[in-house]
Amino acid sequence: MDKQDNRGPEANGGRPLNFLEAIIEEDIRNGKHNGRVHTRFPPEPNGYLHIGHAKSICLNFGLAEKYGGRCNLRFDDTNPTREEQEYVDSIMEDVRWLGFDWEDRLYYASDYFDQLYEWALKLIREGKAYVDDQPADVISEQRGVPTRPGVESPFRNRTVEENLDLFLRMKNGEFPNGARVLRAKIDMSSPNMHMRDPVMYRIMHARHHRSGDKWCIYPTYDYTHGQSDYLEGITHSICTLEFEIHRPLYDWFLDQIIDTDYRPRQYEFARLNLNYTVISKRKLLELVEGKYVNGWDDPRMPTISGLRRRGYTPLSIRNFADRVGVAKRENVIDVGLLEFCIREDLNRCAPRVFAVLNPLRVVITNFEEGKTEELELERNPEDPSMGTRKVPFTREIYIEQEDFHEDPPPKFFRLSPGREVRLKGAYIIRCEGFQKDDNGRITEVYCTYDPETRSGSGSQKKVKGTLHWVSTQHAVNCEVRLYDRLFMKEDPEEATGEEADFKLFLNPDSLKVVQGKAEPSLRNAAHLEKFQFQRLGYFCVDTDSSDEKLVFNRTVTLKESWIRASGKES
Ligand code: ATP
Ligand code: MG
Repeated sequence: MDKQDNRGPEANGGRPLNFLEAIIEEDIRNGKHNGRVHTRFPPEPNGYLHIGHAKSICLNFGLAEKYGGRCNLRFDDTNPTREEQEYVDSIMEDVRWLGFDWEDRLYYASDYFDQLYEWALKLIREGKAYVDDQPADVISEQRGVPTRPGVESPFRNRTVEENLDLFLRMKNGEFPNGARVLRAKIDMSSPNMHMRDPVMYRIMHARHHRSGDKWCIYPTYDYTHGQSDYLEGITHSICTLEFEIHRPLYDWFLDQIIDTDYRPRQYEFARLNLNYTVISKRKLLELVEGKYVNGWDDPRMPTISGLRRRGYTPLSIRNFADRVGVAKRENVIDVGLLEFCIREDLNRCAPRVFAVLNPLRVVITNFEEGKTEELELERNPEDPSMGTRKVPFTREIYIEQEDFHEDPPPKFFRLSPGREVRLKGAYIIRCEGFQKDDNGRITEVYCTYDPETRSGSGSQKKVKGTLHWVSTQHAVNCEVRLYDRLFMKEDPEEATGEEADFKLFLNPDSLKVVQGKAEPSLRNAAHLEKFQFQRLGYFCVDTDSSDEKLVFNRTVTLKESWIRASGKES
């Protein structure tokens, strides 16, 4: 499909172009890169991907898709001490799950170590790089502050021969970690601190997950990223705003090696921030290692694997990324938008079922003992093509404890002595009495049903409340994990004093486990299968679920919690 025409806003689903689309369209119009669009998603394999990465994935793969281009997956694996194969595997799984395909374009920055080393030798030979014997703290001290020129290293003017010799010996493992670095010789008085002779290589005697023990010197991010883009033919190298200040350095390294017309360009956009959420691999790692959560895929984590386990769908996350848009300035997105996106998708695709989280036994005294009436209820009113399910109705059922009130407050339209409610999809019942234990806790409620009021029978009788219910005899036991926000504070990372620690704001009630009762159609539900528990919210089968124990995660509550108060059927 030829997507390289001049598309206006009409051709863009009605929304204006974001600034990156505008740049790309301008480039295409000008025939830059012969109209080629090639992006990349470059994660460092030092943690699991989070919702911010999802934004970046959707952006990079999405732009390539939209403009008939390509997007590479590139592991930015230049720091062997923090990186692991487990992370590489999880990242690939997550990108695929989101629905994107890098085809045969899986790359690793470590694939370029030989080439990067050759280019480093070239820079040394041209007098543009030198070996510095000073320790890191002295180097950083000499860099100084932006308003005053830094101090030049006493090793800055070594001869080319000496630099070549020392760099070779660094590579050959003659020196311990931190003993020397290779620095670019740029400008110690530049107002941009990144241009004050940045480090290109450091000594790290560490085994690399791919190159093994071949190297004991490793290139820095700055010395690697632009050249990797160049080697892969990237046209638009999109990263987050904190790299804007690195851009002159990105360009400087490319200036030293490029002798063709083609060169990649870096563009920056605002990273995704969400309120009530921390989005930083380092902090997420802290939560995992400190066992504040149960692993990277804990359903409370903003990781892609956590969201997946929580019950999010790929489409909901892609829609979220789309709605967030692409900004040039830092901003914070309300986590409610993410919840809106999953509700919207699950409303469309999740079958409706009954489950009771805090069971209270109800006996329908005029319903025949031992009889089971099979009711046929729709799976999804939004989508009749999803068909129906069978729900058994019996003399004893469970309802929610909170749906009964001995002495109802005003506007309580659910069950209470003498009152009538509809059992959803079944009959209208009337409360005739109840029983309490010694602690005053309601243990059982007695009702009669009106056989003329079966749902769908055309009965005109109206009541104000509708309850969900489950037959006690057929109920399937289940564990239900109810999640709330992981953090109580809108901005958990906001610095509040020297010792500010985001972990202080963890919500102690972010996980509540209840033992519920579900309708029998849920017995064989598969891992990650999603449902709407009517009147309660959206739930999915947790990966801990087994034949012995059915386990559900609450993905999100129903936004329309007013339905319960007003008693309208949902
Ligand atoms: P973190 O700050 O969470 O550790 P990172 O930027 O160090 O993330 P990388 O693995 O280097 O993580 O990121 C891979 C890509 O994802 C980069 O291009 C980065 O700009 C992008 N990215 C990371 N965090 C976000 C975010 N919050 N919003 C948008 N893009 C992000
Ligand atoms: Mg990074």
